[in-house]
Amino acid sequence: MKVFAVGGAVRDELLGHPVKDRDYVVVGATPEDMLAQGFRPVGKDFPVFLHPRTHEEYALARTERKTAPGYKGFVFHTDPDVTLEQDLVRRDLTINAIARAEDGTVADPFNGRQDLQDKIFRHVSDAFAEDPVRILRVARFAARFTDFTVAPETNVLMQRMVAAGEVDALVPERVWQELARGLMETQPSRMFEVLRACGALARILPELDVLWGIPQPEKYHPEIDTGVHVMMVVDTAARENYALPVRFAALAHDLGKGATPAAGWPSHHGHEGLGVGLVERVCQRLKVPGEVRDLALMTTREHGNVGRAFELRANTIVNLLGRCDAFRKPQRFVDMLRATECDYRGRTGYAGKPFPQFAYLQAVLKAAQSVNAGVIAGMFQQQPQRIPDAIHAARVEMVEQVVQARRPHPGGPDPGGPDPGGPNPGGPNPGGPDPE
Ligand code: ATP
Repeated sequence: MKVFAVGGAVRDELLGHPVKDRDYVVVGATPEDMLAQGFRPVGKDFPVFLHPRTHEEYALARTERKTAPGYKGFVFHTDPDVTLEQDLVRRDLTINAIARAEDGTVADPFNGRQDLQDKIFRHVSDAFAEDPVRILRVARFAARFTDFTVAPETNVLMQRMVAAGEVDALVPERVWQELARGLMETQPSRMFEVLRACGALARILPELDVLWGIPQPEKYHPEIDTGVHVMMVVDTAARENYALPVRFAALAHDLGKGATPAAGWPSHHGHEGLGVGLVERVCQRLKVPGEVRDLALMTTREHGNVGRAFELRANTIVNLLGRCDAFRKPQRFVDMLRATECDYRGRTGYAGKPFPQFAYLQAVLKAAQSVNAGVIAGMFQQQPQRIPDAIHAARVEMVEQVVQARRPHPGGPDPGGPDPGGPNPGGPNPGGPDPE
């Protein structure tokens, strides 16, 4: 029996990148041979074994045959006669179909090394079309290997797969899993560009796909196009190394701009409210985890208010904190501010600009948190129905001090510093005066 390192580990080694997981393929062995050598079986659908000491994965070389739509519709065949090349040909990309033997020699029947050098994602064979997950994988790899491009013939094949309805057979869990992984890569916008180029985005996330071609006001959005803006916002969140909920909130926050009537372009008044319903729909369809969904909903609903923070009265700000459940979940509120900061910076020419609303709303939250709700509740023991209003009033009083401290003093400098962006420094979407 012969053992080869395969897949991502060989690719990453050749690229000089750190290697995380190592996968091996075993040629010329039966499951019994593996068990006799102390390997532990783990595969449900096909024979995969864990090495008794290193716990790395060893799979018997296999072929596969498509029998039903979707990524589970495969029948696998293992046999000691299955060759290394037969195993490699069923892999997705040439750069993932390189094997290295134990003596260091490289088997590269599909010229993956050349494609690594040329920085090209190219499908190994037309069997690529049998599994739509591969489209998601290519897109995700594009977000990681940011100087690679998709081979034209691979893009054509992916377009054909989309036209044949293959992408519609994907299960939501798998779509979310790949999207979430891609969002965590260096430049997530590249994932969405690849999905858009082959038409898959319109099938998977039509609510996002429609944003390209929808204009925003040039005064606040020099990039104009909403799709371009959202991609800049997501990449800003990635540059900041933010966690998945913040990155997804960055992606979702402007979906409402795809639902505003064209007559209302480019201002998109009311897009926050329209966006909430769309984000709910996306999250339900893709089974997005609750924690990720909730931050996206909050950011969608409130990003305009955060941008207008300096125009809001103390009472309005305390209501905002309440709607965001910021007293019980202050960290989530900060994450919402982060996503909104990415919204602010994710515009042409705004990447390095300050977003003072962030520190301001943190200071406001701190002031409101300083109210001891327990003490107030104790004071109103005889009239418990008055407790919520009394706590609210006390918070407003504390927040008012922060609001006043920012107001410019006649003749003196503005203690909060000048507003960098004029009357509406943070709000990409001028929504008029304090709504309350
Ligand atoms: P990562 O660095 O993201 O883990 P990877 O390439 O190592 O990427 P794995 O999911 O660990 O990805 O898969 C290991 C190998 O198995 C891949 O390199 C590829 O050769 C093959 N592979 C995985 N999924 C598929 C698929 N859906 N279709 C074809 N080949 C696949």
